[in-house]
Amino acid sequence: MKRINIDSTRLWHTIMEMAKIGATPKGGVKRLALTETDKAARDLFCFWAESDGFDCECDSVGNIYVTLRGTSKDMFPVLIGSHLDTQPTGGKFDGIYGVMAGYEVIRTIKEQGIKTSRPITVVNWTNEEGVRFAPAMAGSGVFSGVYTEEEIYNSKDNKGMTFEGELKKIGYMGNKKPIDYKAGIYIEPHIEQGPILESGNYKIGIVKGVQGQLSLDVSVTGFESHSGSTPMNMRKDALLSSSRMCLALNRIATEQFPGSVATVGRMIVQPGARNTVPGKTFFTVDIRHPRKEILFEMEAKIKQHFQNIADETVTKVEIKKAWFTPPVVFDNICVETLRKSAEFLGYNFKEMVSGAGHDACMVNNKVPGCMIFVPCEKGISHNELEKAVPEDLAAGANVLLYSVMDFAEKK
Ligand SMILES: [Zn+2]
Repeated sequence: MKRINIDSTRLWHTIMEMAKIGATPKGGVKRLALTETDKAARDLFCFWAESDGFDCECDSVGNIYVTLRGTSKDMFPVLIGSHLDTQPTGGKFDGIYGVMAGYEVIRTIKEQGIKTSRPITVVNWTNEEGVRFAPAMAGSGVFSGVYTEEEIYNSKDNKGMTFEGELKKIGYMGNKKPIDYKAGIYIEPHIEQGPILESGNYKIGIVKGVQGQLSLDVSVTGFESHSGSTPMNMRKDALLSSSRMCLALNRIATEQFPGSVATVGRMIVQPGARNTVPGKTFFTVDIRHPRKEILFEMEAKIKQHFQNIADETVTKVEIKKAWFTPPVVFDNICVETLRKSAEFLGYNFKEMVSGAGHDACMVNNKVPGCMIFVPCEKGISHNELEKAVPEDLAAGANVLLYSVMDFAEKK
């Protein structure tokens, strides 16, 4: 096979041009879904696509599809996608890289005069971040049938504006229903948002799945009493009990369940007075692992340990499951194709499981999916300081190019 490459300089340029829209003083991007800045990014993407002669359309929740036509009339497209919206203090690459890498790939294929059997479509999913409107991954969720259009339309931001109204206002409400779009395969390129690739000197991450998440709400009840006159051995201190639970959680994750992560991200202490022994706490527990059975095993261990601690500290503990998101397992053939492309191109790659959720988790419910990760500096993401280097971004886009060309001929 004659070796072709994407244009690394051009890819970098498109990402940097996009980053000007909603640019923040610290070098990041603020581009919340369905705002004027989101509209400007969409306008630019569609302007580029149409200038290059691609078909550009949007569906009824504002997902944008840019297509390089194929020669076959009846084969479903190869879909490449990610998102152009960002966190309020987001970076230049999270999401944007995936859309721009996809766009660079179809430009390259077109320029090379290569005719593929399947069409190749690059999609910008609406509202992946879920910052302004809940839930996250809304556009890909409706595409996949996980959410209904109505659920998403009715979502309101904190000013009471509806998703539907704001989508209409920016002019990106198409007629065709997302659920009616078909695809043969889905690939999402993304920055890793973690430190594994960089620290191991890998160019490419081949993502086999996304870890599951189990979230617990924990309430501990002790007894409020005077901090001066209650002897230490007569206290029912809810915070002391909760603190021991935090330490136990950390030990459970690090010592008993390798590969898992566990976090207490929020704690409320009542009454929250300097001179009162805390009578009540509420805290959240977030545990993640690629296997569902392990998550349930961890949950059982946590409950048992927390109960023991409550008994020892003469407090009461109540534990409720807040939510459970099952792990996602990506398509074998899809993963195998990425592996072959990375090997052919001679990139040092690592097979891995994603720590964060992505549009691919949704899409994988409808279309066999997979993801390509590229390193980002120190793993920093959801941060204005997010950084990636042109060489790594190009490597990911080249793996995408070869994988897409392979899929485009598969029956
Ligand atoms: Zn993202």
